[in-house]
Amino acid sequence: MEFHVITLFPELFAAANWPGMVGRALKAGLIKIEAHALREHGLGNYRQVDDTPYGGGSGMLLRPEPLFAAIEGVLGAHPGLWRVLLTPQGEPLEQSMVRELSARRPGLLLVAGRYEGVDERVRTQADQEISIGDYVLSGGELPAMMLIEAVARLVPGVLGNPQSLSEESFADGLLEYPHYTRPEEFRGMRVPEVLLSGDHQKIHAWRKAEALKRTARRRPDLLKRRRP
Ligand code: SAM
Repeated sequence: MEFHVITLFPELFAAANWPGMVGRALKAGLIKIEAHALREHGLGNYRQVDDTPYGGGSGMLLRPEPLFAAIEGVLGAHPGLWRVLLTPQGEPLEQSMVRELSARRPGLLLVAGRYEGVDERVRTQADQEISIGDYVLSGGELPAMMLIEAVARLVPGVLGNPQSLSEESFADGLLEYPHYTRPEEFRGMRVPEVLLSGDHQKIHAWRKAEALKRTARRRPDLLKRRRP
């Protein structure tokens, strides 16, 4: 699966910056991440990409011409990419959306804004607008990286043990159950006996009950949305 990012900071997406699972997937050729410098489509000798907003107000906006040219350039070379504009005004990213995105082939074209954001006309070039949460960052690069990491984990072959995908938080509309590793006792805190019992049925039932309890306590909204 391919991830293309249009950004003012392509160096942030260098393969060496991706540790762990994404780094291994890159090396194995299971995914490809390519950053495209918006500056290359900048206007004039100074390669200008931004300008002041009509009507006044603070900050600068990314102009439409460089962004349209960059998007068209990437799509010309890589047709069929699903175009995502990263914006705090987009649909909030959640695991069901990540699953849908992971099925998009040949992949995603992510547009990272900067400054006060992008000229409104750029929105016409997006298939989907996505927010990574109700807070504002200075640029779309970190949101793009988060999205790439979340989606890449679901690409077949990327995770060593795909079973973990069906058990982790949000897979079943629930938060995951608590985990323990060695030692059995640490500073007076013992691992629950059931996990030491070797009785897989009991362990399964305990985990299910804990996941439900935990979700009810921390994220009752997930339980309300959960399909029976
Ligand atoms: N003025 C914009 C607004 O109020 O909606 C915010 C612009 S933000 C400072 C600059 C860029 O960062 C945005 O164009 C977007 O690409 C990215 N960004 C910031 N927060 C984001 C979020 N929560 N989700 C996705 N992208 C975000």
